[in-house]
Amino acid sequence: MPETKLKIAVQKSGRLNEDSINLLRRCGVKFNNGLGKLKSEAENFPAEIYFLRDDDIPEYVHDGVADVGVVGENVLAETGKAVDAIEKLGYGKCRLSLAVPKNFAYRSLEDFGGKRVATTYPQILNEFFAAHKINADIHTISGSVEIAPSIGLADAVCDLVSSGSTLFTNGLREVETVMQSEAVLIARKNLPGDLQTILEKLLFRIKSVKAAGRNKYILLNAPDEKLNEIVALLPGIKSPTVMPLATGGWSSVHSVIGENDFWETVEQLKTAGAEGILVLSIDQMIQ
Ligand code: ATP
Ligand code: ZN
Repeated sequence: MPETKLKIAVQKSGRLNEDSINLLRRCGVKFNNGLGKLKSEAENFPAEIYFLRDDDIPEYVHDGVADVGVVGENVLAETGKAVDAIEKLGYGKCRLSLAVPKNFAYRSLEDFGGKRVATTYPQILNEFFAAHKINADIHTISGSVEIAPSIGLADAVCDLVSSGSTLFTNGLREVETVMQSEAVLIARKNLPGDLQTILEKLLFRIKSVKAAGRNKYILLNAPDEKLNEIVALLPGIKSPTVMPLATGGWSSVHSVIGENDFWETVEQLKTAGAEGILVLSIDQMIQ
């Protein structure tokens, strides 16, 4: 009997491609992604990777061409396909925003009433306007939305933004957020049991990679008389590891710290007398 394989769809090229491939690699799924390849068999995990256009991924997952896939929440919402959103992946972060030309005297959403708004996300925008009882004229275009006002095609745009620099260089000003988005792992509904088992294995690894990404491993030397103070600054998973150094009166302290309060903790450790502080990235963190 042929081995059951989980078919995983990722973006072929574009903003989500590299991060998706790196995520799978960090999950220990080895595969070759030579340019122009449509699919690739994983060497050491029961999976096949499909390289597709992001817009098609929800449909392929829905229809069973792929079992799971990675897409932006924006694409998932726009296609409206009935698939399960299983896990947010923490990359591909952006927002779908309404923006107007700089000379547009914008005050509130009502100002979009009767205006032509260009977007590649007509479904999401339509729902948004309907929810706010705005009657605007949505123009669906397939790309380069940001130039629509300057060529007279629209009065405003609804487009994906991360830093806002594309809007700015095109003389546009972001005025409302329609939705926040990041990459998400989606799966076909009612996956057969054997595929579900493989998916759970992958999901466990994804969670470990995500947890690791938010944490750092820290090693330092502490004079014994400051040990209590230093240990108190480091929560660790359970508590820090403390080992005596060969040089008397000193200990080595190892711990895991979160990246959010990372610099603050390091400064406090130095003030408390820690020396030789090393900080390492963590590949996986199994919880
Ligand atoms: P494809 O050829 O696969 O259709 P695309 O041009 O539609 O690619 P990309 O521009 O590569 O798509 O964007 C893919 C996803 O990356 C978006 O749907 C969105 O979820 C996310 N993303 C993150 N930041 C941005 C941004 N600043 N602009 C556009 N998309 C972004
Ligand atoms: Zn696309």
